[in-house]
Amino acid sequence: MKNTFKIILALVVVGSCAFINPKDSKSKQITVVIDAGHGGKDHGITAEEFSEKEIIQKISNNIKAQNEDQEIVIHFTRTDDEFVSLKDRTDYINKIKPDLVLSLHVNAVKNENASGIEFFINKENSNYEKSKAIAEKLNEKLVKNHSLKSRGIKEARIYIIEKSEAPAVTVELGFLSNANERKYLTDENEQSRIASTILEFIAELK
Ligand SMILES: [Zn+2]
Repeated sequence: MKNTFKIILALVVVGSCAFINPKDSKSKQITVVIDAGHGGKDHGITAEEFSEKEIIQKISNNIKAQNEDQEIVIHFTRTDDEFVSLKDRTDYINKIKPDLVLSLHVNAVKNENASGIEFFINKENSNYEKSKAIAEKLNEKLVKNHSLKSRGIKEARIYIIEKSEAPAVTVELGFLSNANERKYLTDENEQSRIASTILEFIAELK
């Protein structure tokens, strides 16, 4: 009788593990906010006929279209060419409470030789260390997948990354003021490839 009881107990334990397992796989879900910089009346930077708001929206729309992973839940601060204030973006982010915020931008400066990707994080962010680790990983992945030069991870007082109550990183995907990078940033295939790299990166964070 004693042994029978042990066997039943063992079966109960195994049985309850079967119920625990789906919960474990559920914890692999990751929630991300993609903040497509600028929009509407705010064009961001412009060069030739190109504008930052359009380039970033295309990349952001690619991320939305390409995401087939049900464990990756992505919210967008804008999906159209609309103006959303920094406060509204941040309020939206803090309502969602995501695991990660990626604010996407492109750079421009007077010096046409300036090039490379760069990342900004903010010491006031409540998840500063996590933000830093995420920026480092994404930096590595973008450099590797797209043979880009990196200008590194820098500190900046940027509203979205400062006020988001979640790990938050501003990603500058290259310089619209640099001829080579302008070609890359405005090319539809490259925009789609950047989106897949970002999705691949998010999947690795799960
Ligand atoms: Zn910008």
